[in-house]
Amino acid sequence: MQIRFHCPNETCVAIIEFEPLEEAGDSIECPRCHTRHKIEATQSVNQAGLLERCPLCSCSEMFVRKDFPQAFGVALVILAGAISFATLKSNSTIAYGVLLLAMFVDFVLYMVVGKMTACYACRAEFREAELNPEHEGFDLATSEKY
Ligand SMILES: [Zn+2]
Ligand SMILES: [Zn+2]
Repeated sequence: MQIRFHCPNETCVAIIEFEPLEEAGDSIECPRCHTRHKIEATQSVNQAGLLERCPLCSCSEMFVRKDFPQAFGVALVILAGAISFATLKSNSTIAYGVLLLAMFVDFVLYMVVGKMTACYACRAEFREAELNPEHEGFDLATSEKY
């Protein structure tokens, strides 16, 4: 399993990735500020090897979401919108075609990307792991507790 999280050190902006988490031991060092962050890699998974709570902050509330590259999705929509706007007067076929194509690419991407688990409290992300059926999709009410 891979863990990805923003360095909890407030003065540091690093995004830390470590893989496999199973071999992280009891801490992961930030490559930028060299703070060692405590991690409970083995204590946080159950006997079946499923994630039960966040190894980083011990929070037991986690959610599952599609591992969709959101920045790419947004960029695609903006680009398609701009092309569409620029060609609307001269060639409406291209203008609408571009929008349809962007929607289609978004849809295909959504279908092919895998799922990942994330922590409500610290937003750490966990990939390449089997999903715990007890973790549900993102819930705004739960999220607002944090
Ligand atoms: Zn750091
Ligand atoms: Zn957490």
